[in-house]
Parts: sequence; C-alpha cells; structure tokens
Amino acid sequence: MIEQNVKNLLEEIPEKNSFGERVTLVAAVKLQTAEDINAAIAAGITDIGDNHVQEFKDKYSLIAGDPRRHFIGHLQTNKIKYLLGKVDLYHSADRLALAEELSKKGEKAGIISDVLLQINIGDETTKGGFGFKEAESVYQNIKALPALRVKGLMAMLPFTDDIALLEKLAKKMRLLYDNMNDGAFEHLSMGMSGDWKLCVAAGSNMIRLGTSIFGQRNYAKKM
Ligand SMILES: *Cc1c(COP(=O)(O)O)cnc(C)c1O
Repeated sequence: MIEQNVKNLLEEIPEKNSFGERVTLVAAVKLQTAEDINAAIAAGITDIGDNHVQEFKDKYSLIAGDPRRHFIGHLQTNKIKYLLGKVDLYHSADRLALAEELSKKGEKAGIISDVLLQINIGDETTKGGFGFKEAESVYQNIKALPALRVKGLMAMLPFTDDIALLEKLAKKMRLLYDNMNDGAFEHLSMGMSGDWKLCVAAGSNMIRLGTSIFGQRNYAKKM
C-alpha cells in the first residue's frame, strides 16, 4: 500500500508549482515504523520529516537510503543537542528563543543550521509560530544570528472544510513569502494530506504528507 501511495503521489504532484518552482514532497513520518519509512523511501521518497525528538533518535540509524532529514515539529530548546548536525532543515523555528539557542549551540559545534520560520497564518491560539504582522521584524532578528540560515517560511493551515478560507490563507502566505524574500528564501513549506493541492496551487513548493503515504496514523501503537 505504501509503495503504491508513493507512486501515485509522485505522479499526481506537479513537478513545478505555478511559480515554476520544483515541489518537494516530505514524508511526515511520526508514529511510523522504520520498516514502513524504508518502504516509502524505496518507492521514491527522498525527504522525511519527524515531529518528535525521541522518535527521531530511536529510528535515526534504522533508516535506509540516506534521505534528507527534516524536523517539522515543535522543538524544545533542551533537545536541540540531539538534532544538531543531523537535520537538513528545521521547519518550525516558531519563537526567537529557539532560534537563538539553535544558533548558539551550532556556533559552538561549528554547525550552520537551515531553518524556516513558522507563521501562524490562521492566527490560531492552538498553533505555534510567529504572527503575520511580526514576521518581517522577527526575520531581521533571526537572520542576524551567526549559525542559522533562514531558507523560507512554514505554515499549517487551520483544520476546516471552508475551502475559500484555506485558499485565502494559502495565498496570503505566498504573498508574505514573496514580500519577505530578500533572495535567501528557497522553501515555502505548506500543505498536508488534506490541503496540499490548494497549497501548491497557491505557491507552496514543499509539502509534508503523512496520511496519504502511510494511511491513518495509529496513535495507540507504540514504536
Ligand atoms: C503530521 C504532520 C503532517 C502530515 O499530516 P497528514 O495530514 O497526515 O498529511 C504535516 N506537517 C506536520 C507539522 C505534521 O505534524
């Protein structure tokens, strides 16, 4: 099933978005076994994204095929040490303290980290990230940190059936991305299993899919 899902998705996802940018598929691997993740990689997945540091650590050496590693979840500053140097792109720089600590630890270890700034585009109290209005000034602060490279923005749209609202927010994100981009941006990470098509149509160039690759997550199952 996983193999077929990956094949179908790789066919279905347009090679380029409406801005002519290549669209990267990141497999969201939370709660998946190393075996299932490896099946996805064998079927053509090149990028995997973890949410939880413990899972990332437990499965790190069990993953075959040397995929690019993304960290897509909320990250506590005291856990940076487990990820430093092993993550190719952090999607969720969602507060200044985290960015500062990642830079500080990286500076000591001689490691430059690539990050995306998470934007709370739906202005939801349940979600982390910087507010739309503060994004630009936060970027000026974070890009001055010596051991970080800000490569773009990440957003999670609200869970809603209101397609018009989702399209509006996705377009607003792309506008913000273009307005903030000083030439250093490469990734707008936006789109999950339920909304990736409209996100790519609005100008996302990186989508994070879990359910459409692995099926419904089993939260009762332990790794
Ligand atoms: C779980 C998760 C995804 C994937 O969600 P699906 O709806 O299963 O595709 C994407 N991004 C983040 C940050 C996630 O935690």
